[in-house]
Amino acid sequence: MKVARFSKDGSVRIGIVDEANATVSPVESSIGTVADLIRRSVEGTSPASGTSEAIALSDVRILAPIVPERNIFCVGKNYYAHAKEFAGSGFEAGAVKGQEIDEYPAIFSKPPSTVCGPGDTVEMHPEATQAVDYEAELAVIIGRPGRNISEANAMEHVWGYTIVNDVTARDRQKRHKQWFAGKGLDTFCPMGPWIVTADEIDGQNLDIECRVNGEVRQQANTTDLIFKIPQLIAAISAGLTLQPGDVLATGTPAGVGIGFDPPRFLRGGDRVEISVSGIGTLSNDFA
Ligand code: MG
Repeated sequence: MKVARFSKDGSVRIGIVDEANATVSPVESSIGTVADLIRRSVEGTSPASGTSEAIALSDVRILAPIVPERNIFCVGKNYYAHAKEFAGSGFEAGAVKGQEIDEYPAIFSKPPSTVCGPGDTVEMHPEATQAVDYEAELAVIIGRPGRNISEANAMEHVWGYTIVNDVTARDRQKRHKQWFAGKGLDTFCPMGPWIVTADEIDGQNLDIECRVNGEVRQQANTTDLIFKIPQLIAAISAGLTLQPGDVLATGTPAGVGIGFDPPRFLRGGDRVEISVSGIGTLSNDFA
């Protein structure tokens, strides 16, 4: 099941996407948010499909699939090749050669105000940064709530998957010696185009690709994650209750702008497209 949030004629609705027929069927109107739908799904009371009304995807505007109720949980340096390119770039404060791979995952967050939708323009904030970079990532959507979740049980808490671009101001990431300041700017978390439920795809084996103006920059598979999805859920839920609708971004592969010499930061007018097998493509222009 592909769950989308969309607007049509001024109202925002939740629907089930039928890609083969390029339509979306709204779910019953008592379900106001995707988090509501997830909660009802976890409790076993959700409608299994949309209503009989099928609206052409071309007649709606697809929005970010979820409006997070709190910060998005993120993981840094979670692909080997990217951890090396980041440590070698000079943009990681305190990087030590030979210690690119961490013993524990680097966890940070992005505020809900970073989220924007497919097709939205990402603001480049020239007053705050001159080093805007892209990061293609698979995101996990939590279903069943839980705290101190074990790795063995972690996948039972995964409701679905979507795509995020963990847009980063590298100069701020370096200057402020932690990651929130470089990653928390308005519109810095494009998300979408929809959530694919976990029964349809294996999040631990998906191809991920990022293109800038059509040029392939990142290409990997989520089997390459250093800290796998169960490890991430166990680490983040330690002493912290994960809630239905929480979003966990799993980290980005090699090929980001700072991986080049000289770095290839984004410029106004650039288009970044991120494709993940079984999910779709998230496309955003930068200005
Ligand atoms: Mg990232």
